[in-house]
Amino acid sequence: MSDVLCVQWTIIPANAPEPWLNCNRCRRTMPFRTSGKIRVNANGKRVDAWLIYKCTSCDSTWNRPILERRHVSTIEPRLLASLQANDPELSRRLAFEKWRRKLKVEHFDDVTVRKSVMSGNTRPDGRLEIVCVVPQTTGLRVDRLLATELRLSRSRIQSMQNAGHLAAWPGDMSRPLRDGLRVRLELGGVHDGDRIALAATGGET
Ligand SMILES: [Zn+2]
Repeated sequence: MSDVLCVQWTIIPANAPEPWLNCNRCRRTMPFRTSGKIRVNANGKRVDAWLIYKCTSCDSTWNRPILERRHVSTIEPRLLASLQANDPELSRRLAFEKWRRKLKVEHFDDVTVRKSVMSGNTRPDGRLEIVCVVPQTTGLRVDRLLATELRLSRSRIQSMQNAGHLAAWPGDMSRPLRDGLRVRLELGGVHDGDRIALAATGGET
């Protein structure tokens, strides 16, 4: 019997990042939110496409370029069809795409976490390993994710880390989490290890 419990967490952000842009009507810099709508304009063989954002205060719109004067023959037909159909899955994916321009962009913490057991005993005496799948960017910090999802205080997370019972890599616990993050917790000798393991698998605690 394995004494390692391996779980996968898939982290789905609730809100797409919001760029801060100068709003002509508000006369100041405001956060703009995706409307989920895509606009496509075909001019001869050239195609432009934008994702439409709205000022969170006055609803003024801003067009985020997706395709710029692209020759229609260079656009994958399925992508073009999805753009023209305003496919909600595509517009969500675009709203999470990295910004090419240097802009102030606000990322949010709200996420849904889907947990599944990959292997191992769900009442481990030994080690808990968490693999995070993060398909879209989030501003959520690693330590906050762990505190919320394992129902532990941030100070407990910190003390487990200091004691060498918890490690996350690559990176830093105070940074936003990224795809492929792995977390290892040594549960041997932890008084509430069973409860932590249960929380990690998404069971009731
Ligand atoms: Zn405005």
